[in-house]
Amino acid sequence: MEPKEVRNNSEAKWEVSMQCERCHDVIADGEEKKFHGQVLCEDCYMDLLSPPKACDPWAVYSAKSFAKGNDRGPELNPVQQKILDVLRVEGPTEPKNLSEMLHIKETDLERELAALRHIEKVKGQLRNGKRVIMLM
Ligand SMILES: [Zn+2]
Repeated sequence: MEPKEVRNNSEAKWEVSMQCERCHDVIADGEEKKFHGQVLCEDCYMDLLSPPKACDPWAVYSAKSFAKGNDRGPELNPVQQKILDVLRVEGPTEPKNLSEMLHIKETDLERELAALRHIEKVKGQLRNGKRVIMLM
């Protein structure tokens, strides 16, 4: 059991910092991207650099992977499911630690996190200057 006081203390130390102007995700120091005068997180920046075609590639991908069975709830791939499981148990977690726990590369993790953010399963927060991922 996690004592409540610890949680409250760390919440009190949350720093108000830069926010993505597009998805309003918190951007860690040095991770912000500028695009046409907007401050964006890396995900939105990448989105804007490579605008999605007629349909979202990720949606197509997951629709294909989950065509059979599983007709309830959002469609998650096994990695995304694991990310949610870890966050449920561990609470807010740094991406670096998440990728270590899941034994995947950080770049792969970020891609899955972006997908999870799109379906509003997780969000980023700044805690003590560090970006953590948490359940929404
Ligand atoms: Zn964003």
